[in-house]
Amino acid sequence: MTSDAVQSCPVADAHRRLMDCHTQWHTLHDSYLDPDGFRLNLNALVPNLRNVTWLLQKQKAVIPDFATWYPEFQEACKKSEIMGWVVKSRNRITKESDLELLSSCQVIWTRNWLQRVEGTATFPPRMSTPEIIHALRHSNTPPVGLITVRRKWVDKALPGWELLAATAEAFSWLSQILWRAHQAFGVERCDLADRSIECVTSALHGTLARLPCMHLAQSELQAHFTMSGGVVEEEFEHFDPDPETLEAAGERYGELKFPESGPIENVPGFMSMARVMTQKDGHHGTFAFLYNGETVVATQELRFNDQDTKMLSFEGIADLVESTRADGVVIISESWLAIPTKKEKELKTIFFPARDRLDRMEGITVYAATRDGRQAELLSIIERGPNGEASCGEPVEVSFTSGANTLTPIRRKWEDMEKRGL
Ligand SMILES: [Zn+2]
Ligand SMILES: [Zn+2]
Repeated sequence: MTSDAVQSCPVADAHRRLMDCHTQWHTLHDSYLDPDGFRLNLNALVPNLRNVTWLLQKQKAVIPDFATWYPEFQEACKKSEIMGWVVKSRNRITKESDLELLSSCQVIWTRNWLQRVEGTATFPPRMSTPEIIHALRHSNTPPVGLITVRRKWVDKALPGWELLAATAEAFSWLSQILWRAHQAFGVERCDLADRSIECVTSALHGTLARLPCMHLAQSELQAHFTMSGGVVEEEFEHFDPDPETLEAAGERYGELKFPESGPIENVPGFMSMARVMTQKDGHHGTFAFLYNGETVVATQELRFNDQDTKMLSFEGIADLVESTRADGVVIISESWLAIPTKKEKELKTIFFPARDRLDRMEGITVYAATRDGRQAELLSIIERGPNGEASCGEPVEVSFTSGANTLTPIRRKWEDMEKRGL
């Protein structure tokens, strides 16, 4: 039987150790610019990550059905590059030597949606991201596009992973297995006390999604700037379509039916909502819904005022795709549409962004894409009345007039996740 009431922790030693790991992860993050501090904190965190499963196994005699579900987890672990790395690294740290840590700085130049160059620059580990940006601005960086600077600590034995991401990934695996152990006892919430850092609680998760605090902390390690406009901030508005929000929306827009299937199937449902809202408000923002199967795992409102911040917003969505393990996305936006000229049709490209063209049209687009390669898009053209009032035409199926570019960072991320076995 499961219950929402707080019950005493059935695997307290292992669970407490996992909470220690959460605290230590933040300490590791805080010491990112201090090479000795980083090595010291990593040497403390990795063995503790390893100990969580040992402490759990010590109690196997009393954990219900342990012999049935635990081997499944072990099998999955064997296939995970990260969990394998935790085991090997723990042995190296305690018996042999330090991990071979390399500090590097990744510099990504995004000229436009399709042209993106990644490079590695060498800066002293103690140099902060603003200092690196200052140095780059006075070097030979290209004068257009967006530059992203990302600090990185990497272990030579795990070259494809930044170490905060790797340890956050290991944490998610362990949180999932302890969640399973609590389920075996029928315990939804246990009584272990919260720690002094606000996010360190006894809550456990049944999925491999990263903790929001870890996702945010990681994004602090990067900064973006344009040669013309200086540092660009990522601007995200988190919103939850919770019952209250939906009720308030219901009062404003009348009955809105939130579509409840997978991303591709939901495109028509989102389009009917968007048309109602646009006709009422006169405009529509840009929203992203991230899915895992048919479950919405994250929602985000995107705000951008030029091409660079737009690219940045969608790069941010791509990072969120990895953190939440999303395998589908739906984007709803109001945008300018370009009617391609004959030449552009021939070359299958658009020379000028739609918003800069005299013959531009306004429309609502809803488009979806999944990791397994499915996609769908609907377009509704907006006609304006004399006072700017919006009237949204019948939706038509189109094939990625506006979605093609913005989905590029997300598709790139899915390919990258594939390579890293995620
Ligand atoms: Zn517990
Ligand atoms: Zn946290």
